[in-house]
This record gives sequence, structure tokens and C-alpha cells, in this order.
Amino acid sequence: MTRNCNLSCVHCRAAAQRGPHGGELSTDTCLRLLDEIRRVGEPIVILTGGEPLLRDDIFLIARYGTEKGLRMVMAPNGTLLTEEPRATPCMPA
Ligand code: SF4
Repeated sequence: MTRNCNLSCVHCRAAAQRGPHGGELSTDTCLRLLDEIRRVGEPIVILTGGEPLLRDDIFLIARYGTEKGLRMVMAPNGTLLTEEPRATPCMPA
């Protein structure tokens, strides 16, 4: 979902670090990609990075995939998790 990350682990397979990084997929491109994935199957879609929670549109993308019938899961690093849901345009707190 992004190469941007709030950590910079030496073992990172994605060479993730604080961005922003150019050339990342737009929201619309992510949604179209989910459309294409759904046309060929029903895989589990893992939203990872980098830190996926650094994308403002991550819950919109996750919800879109769920509504398409895909099983959406996320692999955050845990540092941005809170007791309460964070407010996003598609997910009110
Ligand atoms: S994506 Fe994971 S492994 Fe890579 S820098 Fe971030 S927290 Fe570390």
C-alpha cells in the first residue's frame, strides 16, 4: 500500500522508511485493482507496506474490497493502533 513507514527497521523486506515516496498507487488505482482481482477470484487481500495506516484512504480501500466480496486483512506494525477508531472520511469515529 505504501513504502512510507513511521519505523525504519534494518530487517525490512520493503526497505520502508518515512516518506513521502513518489509513484505510489492512487486511491482510484487501488480500487480498480481490487475490481480486477475480484473478476478473477476471491483471494485474501493483505494490505501491507510500509505502514498501511499511514494512508488516509486505507479504510476506504479496505471497505471497498469487503463490499466487493474480498476478505480484506491488514498488516500494520502496531505502533499506530489506538483504543478508539480513528476518524477517516469513510469511517467516522
Ligand atoms: S514496514 Fe514493518 S519491517 Fe518495514 S520498517 Fe515498517 S515496521 Fe519495520
